[in-house]
Amino acid sequence: MDQKASNSQKIEKNEHNEQRKRSKRVSMKKRRKPSRFRKQNTIIQQLALERIEFLMESAIKIYSRNPELGNRYVDLARKYSMASKVKIPTKYKNIICHKCKKLLIPGVSSRHRIQSHKKRGSRYIVTCLTCNHTVHIYFQQKKTTTK
Ligand SMILES: [Zn+2]
Repeated sequence: MDQKASNSQKIEKNEHNEQRKRSKRVSMKKRRKPSRFRKQNTIIQQLALERIEFLMESAIKIYSRNPELGNRYVDLARKYSMASKVKIPTKYKNIICHKCKKLLIPGVSSRHRIQSHKKRGSRYIVTCLTCNHTVHIYFQQKKTTTK
């Protein structure tokens, strides 16, 4: 009799645990739904993207004459992107140094070299002249089909 009672208690406990798990799953699903907060922010995000693009373009134009002002524009663009959670477009992100966050203009503030290697494949090396940080970009090798 005691064993049967204990068994029934165990089953009840298991059911209770399963119900708890189910309720947790449901609550997690509710959290994953897109929030209203994002929809409201779309206009702000569009404005921020326009601002970032304008700032980066003007930074590239002015850098050869006034490097300090160019770097200031880059800082502002990064601040806007962080505040509005908008990503800086990749074509602009590739010309910002990963370490010191300054503009990389070829021949002025950065060195661009191509290095060929038989086994590893050729690569494109960008060196920042202010902090000597290097970025290696490997070229995709063409797949050769052998019959
Ligand atoms: Zn740097």
